Amino acid sequence: MTVTPLQTSRYHRAQPHPQIEAIRAFSDNYIWLIRAPGARAAAVVDPGDAGPVEAVLDRHGLELSAIVLTHHHPDHTGGVVRLKARGALVIGPRDEQIQGVDRRVAGGDAVEIAPLGLELEVIDVPGHTRGHIAYHARRLGEDPRPLLFSGDTLFAGGCGRVFEGTPEQMLSSLQRLAALPEQTLVYCAHEYTLSNLRFAAAVEPQCSEVAQRLQEVIDEREQGLATVPSSMGVELATNPFLRTAQPAVRAAAAARLGREPHSEAECFAALREWKNVFR
Ligand code: ZN
Ligand code: FE
Repeated sequence: MTVTPLQTSRYHRAQPHPQIEAIRAFSDNYIWLIRAPGARAAAVVDPGDAGPVEAVLDRHGLELSAIVLTHHHPDHTGGVVRLKARGALVIGPRDEQIQGVDRRVAGGDAVEIAPLGLELEVIDVPGHTRGHIAYHARRLGEDPRPLLFSGDTLFAGGCGRVFEGTPEQMLSSLQRLAALPEQTLVYCAHEYTLSNLRFAAAVEPQCSEVAQRLQEVIDEREQGLATVPSSMGVELATNPFLRTAQPAVRAAAAARLGREPHSEAECFAALREWKNVFR
């Protein structure tokens, strides 16, 4: 009797980085806590609320070295002033007005958070807001995987709404992120993955990767688990907003528009508008 080996299923949620923890805030925000093994130093990304961060810092006896901000929205910055009083250096986007920022950075800048052994490279990703930035690290500690803190630009399975920029800007911002290595861990700022994957399945109903990821995300959310981080490879395979050049995605956009999209940006814009009203 021959036994057909089971195809090992590709698991879409990435193994989290051992030095990064989620602090949940509001209904669906993630504030990312970055730690150094055996040290008290820590940093947080996009602390919209001080309380949950203070609770974690105090519970573990951590010292806050740095606060890292992607954009000005209050659900990402509301905790800055109170947390900064603990002595943290506040790093934020050069082109946005955010109270308490010490070091204003833009695309191409590098920021070292020495107590964590963390070097962040800044990537300009305008679209959700005009001055939105993302942070990329080639690695942190023993884990060889690169990291991306994408704020509200790239989500697991989706992307942020285009509030201040244009669809063209948002698309090129996403393309800049999509060029990072496939193993890159994607740490976004919200748990929107289930709604994003339901939408992805409507855009690409024939895509088995999307269908499988949707099922995994349904299971994870039923267990109350975080679906973040994902990896860039998974995003490239399942996130419709990174797949606007794929024939199936173009065809879905064309069906919405009632004609072929004239450009990838128009395809992106059609998807984004569809997602805005998708339930
Ligand atoms: Zn936002
Ligand atoms: Fe947000």
